[in-house]
Amino acid sequence: GHEASGVVVKTGPDVDRVAVGDKVIVTLIRSCGSCHFCDQGEPVLCDKSAAQDETHLLKLEDGTEIAQGMKTAAFAEWVLVDDSQIVKIPDDMSLDAACLLACGVITGVGAVINTAEVKPGSNVVVIGVGGVGLNAVQGAKIAGAKTIIAVDIEDQKLETARQFGATHGVNAGVEKLPREIRSLTDGYGADYVFVTVGSQQAIDSSYRLMRRGGQVIIVGMPSATEKSSFLPVALAASNQKIQGSFMGQTRLRVDIPRLLSLYRQGVLKLDELISNRYTLDEINLAIDDTCKGQSLRNILIIDDSL
Ligand SMILES: [Zn+2]
Ligand SMILES: [Zn+2]
Repeated sequence: GHEASGVVVKTGPDVDRVAVGDKVIVTLIRSCGSCHFCDQGEPVLCDKSAAQDETHLLKLEDGTEIAQGMKTAAFAEWVLVDDSQIVKIPDDMSLDAACLLACGVITGVGAVINTAEVKPGSNVVVIGVGGVGLNAVQGAKIAGAKTIIAVDIEDQKLETARQFGATHGVNAGVEKLPREIRSLTDGYGADYVFVTVGSQQAIDSSYRLMRRGGQVIIVGMPSATEKSSFLPVALAASNQKIQGSFMGQTRLRVDIPRLLSLYRQGVLKLDELISNRYTLDEINLAIDDTCKGQSLRNILIIDDSL
């Protein structure tokens, strides 16, 4: 419930970015606009936003505070959010495609465009081509990568990745993955390796896929206790880099309009990411299906008149 789109029905007294009737995307990126990190242009790292979590915006009539899941709680007819979390979108933009921009798309595309700044002609590997990974694949295509190698344990997902721009698909179970990747990258290894799954095994395997001077970008989030090990000497001796990317380092009001224009040009695929549509009553079916891991994105249509 943290990827939503809708129409503004009411605004607070100091809100001037949007007005009643505006179509908007609702995200979990809450930022104060004036802390150290916001000043550096990194609102996803805003450190005042966490403090805001302690005073919940939503309250019952008796004043009891209601915690909102992931700062949004958008599995509901209405949401109440800070105005920093929303971005206005054009009236003719469809809300179902728009909601995808709230997290999965900006995380995957942003890791490629904002964090790694992938250069045209590069060799890119994306480990894990689910909801976020597919968007890293299409981000790499938008950036003009020469070779985009999808790596996953499911062949079906590799097939889907090709529809989003992957030039090759390699099953993660192959015997010698690094050798396989080198054979597809003129013998060097990848310039950029994006790990979009939160798996220690996937992260451990990623270091040997980058070329000398290459970089690994960790996007997926393993559990807080998982560790990964690498050879510091190899990193130091070959100018390699390991970098994290949170929420695609997105600046909502900069990135969303760009992505919308790419969508309108037919360059960014959004509709193709939607596997199924459900009503709010069918939410448990939607969640069951999502847990099976076969669908790309399932969408709840809460008010089909919008
Ligand atoms: Zn801030
Ligand atoms: Zn998300």
